[in-house]
Amino acid sequence: MDFSGWRVLREGLRGHTGWAPLWRAATPKKHYDVLIVGGGGHGLATAYYLAKYHGLTNIAVLEKNWVGGGNVGRNTTIIRSNYLLDGNQPFYELSLRLWEGIEQELNFNAMVSQRGVLNLFHSDAQRDAFRRRGNAMRMHGTDAEWLNAKAVRQMAPFLNYDNARFPIHGGLLQRRGGTVRHDAVAWGYARAASALGVDIIERCEVQGFDVTNGQVQAVETSRGRIEADRIGVAVAGYSSEVMRHANVRLPIESHVLQAFVTEGLKPLIPGVITYGAGHFYISQSDKGGLVFGGDLDGYNSYASRGNLPVVEDVCEGGMSIMPMLGRARLLRSWGGVVDMSMDGSPIIDRTQVGGLYFNGGWCYGGFKATPASGWVFAHLLARESSHPTASAYRFDRFAAGAMIDEKGQGSTPNLH
Ligand SMILES: Cc1cc2nc3c(=O)[nH]c(=O)nc-3n(C[C@H](O)[C@H](O)[C@H](O)COP(=O)(O)OP(=O)(O)OC[C@H]3O[C@@H](n4cnc5c(N)ncnc54)[C@H](O)[C@@H]3O)c2cc1C
Repeated sequence: MDFSGWRVLREGLRGHTGWAPLWRAATPKKHYDVLIVGGGGHGLATAYYLAKYHGLTNIAVLEKNWVGGGNVGRNTTIIRSNYLLDGNQPFYELSLRLWEGIEQELNFNAMVSQRGVLNLFHSDAQRDAFRRRGNAMRMHGTDAEWLNAKAVRQMAPFLNYDNARFPIHGGLLQRRGGTVRHDAVAWGYARAASALGVDIIERCEVQGFDVTNGQVQAVETSRGRIEADRIGVAVAGYSSEVMRHANVRLPIESHVLQAFVTEGLKPLIPGVITYGAGHFYISQSDKGGLVFGGDLDGYNSYASRGNLPVVEDVCEGGMSIMPMLGRARLLRSWGGVVDMSMDGSPIIDRTQVGGLYFNGGWCYGGFKATPASGWVFAHLLARESSHPTASAYRFDRFAAGAMIDEKGQGSTPNLH
């Protein structure tokens, strides 16, 4: 079923009786060429690109809950490619370029909105760091603009300029950054992959791996044993839990990250704004709610909900930069389990088990990476070699000390 303006009109006139489910509810087959564990954004994108560009269609995605129920549907929807380091910059720029064509690619409205991402700075040292980042972005061909305090004031007059503990000196703006409707990304990839013959199998939890002579043979699931030639794991916050079944230990910790949404307000915030002196980021959804977040809860957990001290901390950050936020009523908050790697950068690599591949360590920031992650993971699974754009995301960087420490904070997963 193709989507178009005509189709919407036609369905509107006949009581919306002609819409079909977006993807087939598949039952597991005995054997697949490729199995993807995890029906989040990354797993679904991988399956789609494998089927579309690598000629493999005997593929299944195994999801223990429902498509869109993980972090892909829990994040604060920010996309950007304002990275500094060589290992990261080209990868996130590839992702942003894929976002720019995603709706045509998938024939699905993912509400990609390039409304701009503005990072505020509040000190001379931070200004220098942002200049360096902006220059690095430009050298990679990515857009970056420098705003002084006056230009920031014009763009966002509602911020706290005159009575702030950390006055705003300016900002680094990436106009091509913005937001994407998060769960629509999962639905769009699931629909497009299913149309290419991929089996999307929900309520199917992987509980073990059959590994014989160092080679993976099959997975044991809540819906029985499923054999596969190659298996790619993309389960985000559950990475360590799933990979321990194959005796693979990861340089990853699981932490809770919360997000918040206020009641709907008239259009107010032009794009995404981040607070440089604290940890706070905010945008406004198309329904009018202010969507924001801040720090991790700060302890290891598999609970998809957070605690009150961080609610208070995030709201304090918001109030200090945007005092009128205190007048808005908070409607909803939730948590997601994020896979924090030791250097804050992802891992997309083969493992020591033959036929078993891993994609994880996305920390706070894997939503923006969804298309590129699927693109390069599909390449790895199909060709058994790393995609050049993701060649730095290997396990051996931790042994070699070649960390991709974008924040410069060292091996401190709770701070990345
Ligand atoms: C509150 C919050 C805000 C965020 N904000 C942003 C943001 O603004 N921008 C950004 O770029 N990133 C953001 N992120 C990070 C981003 O959401 C994640 O990095 C990314 O979604 C992870 O990839 P995924 O979509 O594949 O994960 P998920 O959607 O979590 O997919 C993993 C799937 O694996 C499934 N699974 C787990 N175990 C098993 C098993 N045993 N068997 C089968 N399936 C299993 C899970 O049920 C889940 O559906 C945020 C995250 C959170 C929690």
